[in-house]
Amino acid sequence: SIEEATPESRANYARRRRKRPQEGPALVTDALVKTSESSAEEEDNTVTDLWKKRKLEILRKLPPGVDETAAKQILNEIVVRGDEVHWSDIAGLEVAKNALREAVVYPFLRPDLFMGLREPARGMLLFGPPGTGKTMLARAVATESKSTFFSISASSLTSKYLGESEKLVRALFALAKLLAPSIIFVDEIDSLLSKRSGSGEHEATRRIKTEFLIQWSDLQRAAAGRESQGDRDKDRGDANRVLVLAATNLPWIIDEAARRRFVRRQYIPLPESETRAVQIRTLLSQQKHTLSDEDINVLVGLTDGFSGSDITALAKDAAMGPLRSLGEALLHMTMDEIRPIGLSDFVASLTTIRPSVSRASLKEYEDWAKEFGERG
Ligand code: ADP
Repeated sequence: SIEEATPESRANYARRRRKRPQEGPALVTDALVKTSESSAEEEDNTVTDLWKKRKLEILRKLPPGVDETAAKQILNEIVVRGDEVHWSDIAGLEVAKNALREAVVYPFLRPDLFMGLREPARGMLLFGPPGTGKTMLARAVATESKSTFFSISASSLTSKYLGESEKLVRALFALAKLLAPSIIFVDEIDSLLSKRSGSGEHEATRRIKTEFLIQWSDLQRAAAGRESQGDRDKDRGDANRVLVLAATNLPWIIDEAARRRFVRRQYIPLPESETRAVQIRTLLSQQKHTLSDEDINVLVGLTDGFSGSDITALAKDAAMGPLRSLGEALLHMTMDEIRPIGLSDFVASLTTIRPSVSRASLKEYEDWAKEFGERG
């Protein structure tokens, strides 16, 4: 985080970040924004320097038995900083947002109010079709609860990091406690906690799964206060503010024991028409366009079955429409000379951008949600 920056510079930093088009055509890259604002670049460098210093401090505080190389790797690759996501960036999903506020954000901000019966769950599973905002929700939870955000894809644990994975998992949980309040977000959790990996699968994968479950249990036990003696009290306080948030597109693959550990299982469905309208409006808000309310209604009708990421892809493609017919001439045109995006651009893009979730798989999600989930 940028907590060391002064409040003033932090406010500027946040403002500048927000000013950037969130989605929009991928023409405006981070690099472009940075070179056009040199003071911004300097400030980014300061933030980077501060983070470098902070990392060294953190490494000095590592508890014994935690591998320093693994810890460095976590700090460099797994801790997510900057480019915050806020609730308002996420279209719809009000039920899920409320569940996350109650289960994570408020308990993290006011731990004193959430004890005993109100003790928050130590793990929450977000499941549903791909591209529906699960990752965005996790990032928003981290922002809104002012937590350190650890983001790891379970499939990278079992591939890229295989071999060092156990050390990495231990370092992950140790750092999460050290930097509490923390959210450990595990994407594609199915690849870590699948039924297969319990038996007959890759030995290394099985060991990572075991290590992950051990670390997670320790966290739950410490938080429940069963070891609340002396030194442990500190541990308990920290563990109380570490939550495992996991996401999956394949919830039925998770084995039963692991599934039961997620006391809360939140369904993140495809967006309803109202949500699609909100998202389309947000995507268009920074663009020159001619879409009337009626056009947007038409578009909402045409995007039934689209996920949030399908809609983003569609809007990005449609935004290219006005440039496509220009060819190289666009290099010499001013912004004003470029025609606005119209409904016809969207309609043209709809021939290539199709929904990524099939009706058949949608039914699988609905069925699983009915049996094991909370609806969102
Ligand atoms: P998931 O984790 O469910 O696969 P993501 O959260 O990574 O999906 O979403 C992928 C992209 O799709 C986001 O970066 C965003 O552009 C878009 N998106 C998905 N859902 C929403 C939503 N509810 N509101 C706004 N954008 C969304």
